[in-house]
Amino acid sequence: KKRIAVMTSGGDAPGMNAAVRAVVRMTIAKGCESYAIYEGYEGMVKGGSLIKRMTWEDVRGWLSEGGTLIGTARCMEFRQRAGRLQGAKNLILNGIDALIICGGDGSLTGADLFRSEWSGLLEELVKTGELTAEQVEPYKYLAICGLVGSIDNDMTGTDATIGCYSSLTRICQAVDFIDATAYSHSRAFVVEVMGRHCGWLALMAGVSTGADFVFLPEKPPGDDWEQDMCRIISKHRGMGKRKTIVIVAEGATDNKLNPISAEHVKEILAGKLGLDTRITTLGHVQRGGNACAYDRMLATLQGVEAVDAILESTPETPSPVITINENKIGRKSLQESVKLTQDGAKCIANKDFEGAMKLRDREFEE
Ligand code: ATP
Repeated sequence: KKRIAVMTSGGDAPGMNAAVRAVVRMTIAKGCESYAIYEGYEGMVKGGSLIKRMTWEDVRGWLSEGGTLIGTARCMEFRQRAGRLQGAKNLILNGIDALIICGGDGSLTGADLFRSEWSGLLEELVKTGELTAEQVEPYKYLAICGLVGSIDNDMTGTDATIGCYSSLTRICQAVDFIDATAYSHSRAFVVEVMGRHCGWLALMAGVSTGADFVFLPEKPPGDDWEQDMCRIISKHRGMGKRKTIVIVAEGATDNKLNPISAEHVKEILAGKLGLDTRITTLGHVQRGGNACAYDRMLATLQGVEAVDAILESTPETPSPVITINENKIGRKSLQESVKLTQDGAKCIANKDFEGAMKLRDREFEE
């Protein structure tokens, strides 16, 4: 009978609660014991009341709730071996032998490292007298499974991350609101959206709202981008369009990696085209609020799959991450997906934009 703990880590994303609910209830339905680790890795390192047994009723009403009700944190201690040692001790003291983590690539990297160190950590706990050999004996192996919770849709190997469609929905609603006022005054708006290394939100928001121009980290504009943007927007205005919407991902740069700021875009629109231009930075509105139907569905199906993956895992099975590809829930190697994701970010840093797109499995057409 496994004791499966679930935690959320890194930035919160709508749908994380739905994932926790699915994991808790599937764990119980399979006859196992369910635990939640509050405040991400912080809760694992600190232990005590931050590790809590979960019942079916504890997650009632969590399907639609935004954010993460079990909390999340960035935990510096877990980046050090001493913190992970403490984490291992707390898991054993609570009898936990399996962990499902919903977070971004950093959180999943930490989980994989933790698992690979596990037997060494137990040896050390016994050697230093923190735990006895009898206490660690039943915990020879820690099963781990990752769920990707991120509004950015920035994980290679899966079509959608838990939270990205809620965030996209929120951005579209906000741009719709802006549209009305932009139209009324015939104004231009530069809308900054989240996405440091990944322009999925900006691109899809552009497609979904019919924006005039979009700036993405993976596809920087050419040297003459200021003229190009002005030409396109003038053309749209010439066709009778009364409003102009330009979407800038927060990590957008030119092809020399100089940041393209909303402020700079505004100056060009106002200076070169004479447009009355305003900036709207959507900020954390994009993260909060209820999970949309897709995220509830994705989180639930993936939560169920994560528990199945844990129950089928053996010491030899590489840690899986739960994916969705072409509408099918699946499993991939956590290590491999994280590596490809991080390689993609490195490609952008090295100005290899094509390489980044290839690694992301994404094609951005002109
Ligand atoms: P987001 O996409 O929102 O940034 P993330 O999961 O990538 O989410 P991080 O801040 O990178 O967010 O990681 C969350 C936590 O995971 C960290 O605070 C740390 O505790 C742990 N973690 C991240 N990377 C590592 C690592 N290399 N080794 C150990 N722990 C790590």
